[in-house]
Amino acid sequence: MSQKIVAVKGMNDLLPGEIEIWQHVERLTRELFGRFGYSEIRTPIVEDTSLFVRSVGEETDIVGKEMYTFDDKAGRSLSLRPEGTAPAARAYIEHSVLNQEPLTRWYYMGPMFRYERMKTGRYRQFYQIGAEAYGAKEAAQDVEVMDMVTQFLQALGLQDITLNLNSLGDEACRPAYYEKLVEYLKAHREELCGDCHRRLETNPLRVLDCKNEACQAVAAKGPSVLEFLCEPCRDHFDDVQRKLTALGVRFVVNPRMVRGLDYYTRTVFEFVASHPALGTASTVGGGGRYDKLVKSLGGPDVPAVGFACGVDRLVLLLKESQQKFAATPDLFIAVADADSQDAAFTLASRLRREGLRVDFDTRGGSLRSQMKRSDKSGAAFTLVLGGQEFTSGQAKLKRMAGGEPIPVALDDIARTVRAQSGAPQVAPAAT
Ligand code: AMP
Repeated sequence: MSQKIVAVKGMNDLLPGEIEIWQHVERLTRELFGRFGYSEIRTPIVEDTSLFVRSVGEETDIVGKEMYTFDDKAGRSLSLRPEGTAPAARAYIEHSVLNQEPLTRWYYMGPMFRYERMKTGRYRQFYQIGAEAYGAKEAAQDVEVMDMVTQFLQALGLQDITLNLNSLGDEACRPAYYEKLVEYLKAHREELCGDCHRRLETNPLRVLDCKNEACQAVAAKGPSVLEFLCEPCRDHFDDVQRKLTALGVRFVVNPRMVRGLDYYTRTVFEFVASHPALGTASTVGGGGRYDKLVKSLGGPDVPAVGFACGVDRLVLLLKESQQKFAATPDLFIAVADADSQDAAFTLASRLRREGLRVDFDTRGGSLRSQMKRSDKSGAAFTLVLGGQEFTSGQAKLKRMAGGEPIPVALDDIARTVRAQSGAPQVAPAAT
């Protein structure tokens, strides 16, 4: 017998029953991000490996350990994208977007890939929804992005999510913090893991997001970056907090939060859920300002700020909520006798053209089995059609929730179903 092939570990199929939640999240993204003036972009799933090495950083777990990297047939090193900010910046530079609009707002959604240790809420192919705003260095831009995520999570009906906020300073003040941090970490060298011994030499900030518990314990007691902010960074951070408060966006300042990517300057933030469904994978989204990234990738000196949310985690939370997402048929058409199968099939097609969601069993079969299917489909109404109905042009619409059957003319079904379900009348699709 041939061996059964299964999906690659850490990469999930998304099937009906669950996909409706994903579609809901995506619909809401388009609607809400559109209100904020963000336009969608789609970049390739594969990029030059050096894009991520130069932006996310060689010493990060993402680039150092988790990237799916391979050589193509021409020997170029390519990687499946592990995140969306670097590809967006690459596209922004490549298409000279700055020349077209000085303030650019983009969003994206799609799969990302990281070879991570799997658990609930952590997969190797996962999905992010993210946004990037290029061209504004002002605190208002950071706040707009955080406000948008907050409104997004609220519109999804998700509660108990805390916005954690921090500032990492900039090239003027970070060196002094680095120096203190390295001094502190060196004093605790014995307690750190082997990877962190190396990070201590190459990129000490990355010690703070090591997943090792002992390293986390050391990091928790280290110096606070906020004590080292220079005046412009301090003013920017104060302004961010003032503006968040003015918009009614609640947050907590968390001076140990540094995020696991190298490109951030000043503001960083994370949205952390407290629901047990996520286990330890409780961060549903995060982001920050990256004023130097575009330039460091060979583009203009443009400040930027962005975020990304993990859709898999949002869906896990939404599954726990009592919300209903699946769209059920308006009408199930059952056929009473085999001779009427073709006429009923034609009628189903017409009603779909007129805008109804219609379920119809193309296999025919007994009326009993069709009624069973109708029950299971969750259709609001069922119409049983046979020779008599087609001859008289009249039928009875059965409301599945119960009640008296409603007499209906066969050429007036769509209007009647809409009127009976209180749905607005829509124009038929063009033929
Ligand atoms: P990051 O780019 O690491 O800041 O991730 C942003 C968001 O993407 C996180 O807050 C998670 O919600 C989600 N995320 C990151 N890695 C994974 C993963 N391996 N599986 C599922 N979601 C993830």
